[in-house]
Amino acid sequence: APPKPTRIGLAGLAVMGQNLALNIAEKGFPISVYNRTTSKVDETVERAKNEGNLPLYGFHDPESFVKSIQKPRVIIMLVKAGAPVDQTIKTLSVYLEKGDSIIDGGNEWYENTERRAKAMAELGLLYLGMGVSGGEEGARYGPSMMPGGSFEAYKYIEDILLKVSAQVPDSGPCVTYIGKGGSGNFVKMIHNGIEYGDMQLIAEAYDVLKSVGKLSNEELRSVFSEWNKGELLSFLIEITADIFGIKDDKGDGYLVDKVLDKTGMKGTGKWTVQQAAELSVAAPTIESSLDARFLSGLKEERVKAAKVFKSAGFGDILTAPEVDKAKLIDDSIEQGWDLKLGELARIWKGGCIIRAVFLDRIKQAYDRNADLANLLVDPEFSKEIIERQSAWRRVVCLAINSGISTPGMSASLAYFDSYRRERLPANLVQAQRDYFGAHTYERTDVEGAFHTEWFKIA
Ligand code: NAP
Repeated sequence: APPKPTRIGLAGLAVMGQNLALNIAEKGFPISVYNRTTSKVDETVERAKNEGNLPLYGFHDPESFVKSIQKPRVIIMLVKAGAPVDQTIKTLSVYLEKGDSIIDGGNEWYENTERRAKAMAELGLLYLGMGVSGGEEGARYGPSMMPGGSFEAYKYIEDILLKVSAQVPDSGPCVTYIGKGGSGNFVKMIHNGIEYGDMQLIAEAYDVLKSVGKLSNEELRSVFSEWNKGELLSFLIEITADIFGIKDDKGDGYLVDKVLDKTGMKGTGKWTVQQAAELSVAAPTIESSLDARFLSGLKEERVKAAKVFKSAGFGDILTAPEVDKAKLIDDSIEQGWDLKLGELARIWKGGCIIRAVFLDRIKQAYDRNADLANLLVDPEFSKEIIERQSAWRRVVCLAINSGISTPGMSASLAYFDSYRRERLPANLVQAQRDYFGAHTYERTDVEGAFHTEWFKIA
C-alpha cells in the first residue's frame, strides 16, 4: 500500500497502460494501478521496481485500488475499446464519489464517449475521452495526447499531462485540451486515419522501388535513411529504414521479405473513412489505404488469381521501360501532399506515430491563414506541388505501366487534379441525373433550378 493516497490511478495494464503508468510514476506522480487479470498488476509492479523504484502501487481488487487514490480521484482507463470500457466503468464507478473523474485513454468511438460522459454526469462524475498516440515507446517515454470532454477534469490533471507527454523543443509538450464531448477521440481517430495514409504511401514507394527499380533491401535502407535526413524526416520513414536492415532471425535473408503481406487493423481507419463519407469530405488517400488493407486480407484469393493470370502469360510485373534507378528514387520522394493536419500539427510533432518535421510547415501554413480552405492552395504548398507534380506523374505512370498498384499515390494525384480544375465533367453526371430522375440542375449563366425533358428533345 502507498504511504499516503496516490495522485492518480490507472486501470488496464496491457501494452499502453503499463507503459503510461510507469511514465507517470517516473515523472514523480505516485500512481495506483489495477487490471482485471491480476498477473499484469504484479508484472507492472515488478517493472516499476526494476526501472528505478518508481512510486507505483498495484492492487488486485477494484475497491482498494479506487480508495488508494487522493480525492477528487482521477482514473485513466486503458482497456480495449467498446464493451470492456463499459465494464471497467461499471466495476470502478461503484466506489467513486461525486467530483471524481474517469479518463478513457483508448481508441474509442467518439459517440460512445459522449454517451458515457452523459451517464457519468448523472452520477456527478467527470469524464474525458483522451486519444493517446505513440505506441509502446510513446506511452513509456512521451506520447502525444488528445484529451476532450470535461474541462474541469482536464484542468485537474493538466500538470501530469504536460509532464508525461512528449516534449518538443520550441513547440512545447504534445498535449492540448481539444474541446468538449468526444472531440479528443475524434481527433485521435483522424490522426490514425492519417497514419494509415502515410503508411500506405510509404509502402507504395517501397513497392515501386523494389519491384520496378529492383532495389535491394540494403539500397532501400539507404534511400529511406537519406530521405529521413531531409524534409521527410519522420518516425515512419525512420522505422521503415530500420526495417530494411533487419536480418531474418529464423533463416536466410531479410525479415521484411518473410513478413506475410496481410495488414491487420483495429477500426480507427475505417471509422475515419466512414466519418469522411458522413461529412461529405473527400479523403481518397485514407480511403485507398483502407481498401489496400482489405485487399491485403484476401491473401488466398490473390495467390489463386496470380496463378490464373500467370498461366495466361500475364506476369506479376509487366515489362516496364528500363528505369534509371537514381531518377526513380528522386521522383519517388515527391508524393502525398493532401494531408490536412491543421492546428493539430503542433501536438503531433512529438510522441505520436505520425510525427514529422513536415508538420511544422503545415502549422506555418495555418499560421499564415487560419481559414485556409485546403493546404494545396497555400502559396508555399501550391508552388511546391507545381514543381513536383511531374515527378509524381512519372512515378504513377511507371507504376501503372508496370502493373504495380499504387492506390494511395494515384488517388492522391486524382484528388489534386480534381481539386485544381475549375470545371469538371460533373455537368454530364448532373444532366444524366436530371434526364432519368428529374433531379434538376443549375446553370452556369442563370440562377435557379432547371429541369429539362431531355428524352423528348433526344
Ligand atoms: P488492448 O489489447 O487493446 O486491451 C487489453 C486490455 O484491456 C487489458 O488490460 C485487458 O484486461 C483489458 N480488457 C479487455 N477486456 C476487458 C473487459 N471485458 N473488462 C476489463 N478489462 C478488459 O490493450 P492496448 O494495446 O494496451 O491498448 C489499450 C487502448 O489503447 C486501446 O483502446 C487501444 O486501441 C489504444 N491504443 C493502443 C496503441 C498500441 O500501440 N497498442 C496505441 C494507441 C492507442 P485483461 O488483462 O484482464 O485481459
